[in-house]
Amino acid sequence: MSDSAPVVIIGSGLAGYTLAKEIRKRDRELPLMMITADDGVSYSKPLLSTGFTKGKEADELAQADAGAMAEQLILDIRTHTRVTGIDPDAHEVLIGAERLRYQQLVLACGADIIRLPEAISACPRVFSINDLEDYRQFRRGLAQGRRVILLGAGLIGCEYANDLRNGGYDVTVVAPSDQVMPGLLPPAAAAAVQSALEAEGVTFHLGVGAEAVTEDGTAVQVRLEDGAILQGDIVISAVGLRPRTRLAASAGLEVRRGIVTDQLLATSTADIYALGDCAEVEGHVLMYVMPLMAAARALAATLTGTPTAVSWGAMPVMVKTPCCPVAALPPVPVDGGQWEVEQDGVNVCALYRDSSGTLLGFALTGDRVIEKQALAKEVPPLLPLIPGE
Ligand SMILES: Cc1cc2nc3c(=O)[nH]c(=O)nc-3n(C[C@H](O)[C@H](O)[C@H](O)COP(=O)(O)OP(=O)(O)OC[C@H]3O[C@@H](n4cnc5c(N)ncnc54)[C@H](O)[C@@H]3O)c2cc1C
Repeated sequence: MSDSAPVVIIGSGLAGYTLAKEIRKRDRELPLMMITADDGVSYSKPLLSTGFTKGKEADELAQADAGAMAEQLILDIRTHTRVTGIDPDAHEVLIGAERLRYQQLVLACGADIIRLPEAISACPRVFSINDLEDYRQFRRGLAQGRRVILLGAGLIGCEYANDLRNGGYDVTVVAPSDQVMPGLLPPAAAAAVQSALEAEGVTFHLGVGAEAVTEDGTAVQVRLEDGAILQGDIVISAVGLRPRTRLAASAGLEVRRGIVTDQLLATSTADIYALGDCAEVEGHVLMYVMPLMAAARALAATLTGTPTAVSWGAMPVMVKTPCCPVAALPPVPVDGGQWEVEQDGVNVCALYRDSSGTLLGFALTGDRVIEKQALAKEVPPLLPLIPGE
């Protein structure tokens, strides 16, 4: 392999660009190439669920185009280019019939939207939002009317519900779970968020899934599993994301829920690393910004000659529901672990402790979110510093 082959980063999301920035803080000479299936525009994905609250159209969320990023980060960028394969023995990525050499390869290829069955997803008025282009199309779709039916009551579904109400839309949320944010919040905290959203005018149909969506002239009809029919103008599917692993798996890399890496972000194959939403680091799949920033800093050090393991403290997740702010650190349940809940209206402090009293996780809503930093310090780190690092 020639030493002049670049470090190749696949993906121009927050993971890819943060890594490139961190590398450039350390080394301005290392040849760097980014290959991305999209247009390479730099934007902050978390802002996609706050467009109305912050008064931003899709184009206003774009921070810099690919050309500006290439200049700023001294990198060669190929946009609208999908990597179709990896040949680890030859140290090459495949773009159709074309082959490009890499010195080291970083997979920062994000996560895929979980698609609902055809009977729902085939309707052209059903939108899923996972990048700026999706968001642009969804904002155009809103021209069809003010009644939005949201499928999914997870973190992103609740954020869109609040944001669309702030934009003056009628919002109905449908989900098979019997509470909002089931993976993130214990029931008391979830009930607080739901009641705050209801007070804003959001309607909920929980405990029942959607079965089919049909377009009916000027409107859409959503048929629920219990036979009820909801009328709306557009539908947003926000039922979750899963790490993109197909490219890695087809090249023989170990894949479980995500692309498996160790604490150095190294995959099972030499000179290939993974970070961001696509990665499973020491068993953890964390599809949030804070973990990917820490991972990008560590990987930049490694790629510029100082092998560095990522360390993750306890990182609470903030949910952007301004009518009832949320900070949550979901625990991994243990035998004998219990929630202790203090509640005053929508202000909830729920602490999860093991049988010896150690705090393993928490959920805070309303006024109580200010306690998040103090509480996070009490929770054992997720990936402790490796001694000597
Ligand atoms: C609506 C929404 C709100 C969110 N809010 C928050 C929040 O408040 N706080 C928080 O911490 N997190 C939030 N998140 C999660 C956070 O935004 C993500 O964890 C983060 O943006 C993931 O970045 P990424 O670079 O790993 O993936 P992505 O941004 O998905 O980037 C993946 C890149 O890989 C490219 N790609 C994929 N496959 C290929 C291929 N084969 N060849 C070439 N290129 C390829 C894509 O084109 C893209 O450029 C939110 C997510 C969403 C959807």
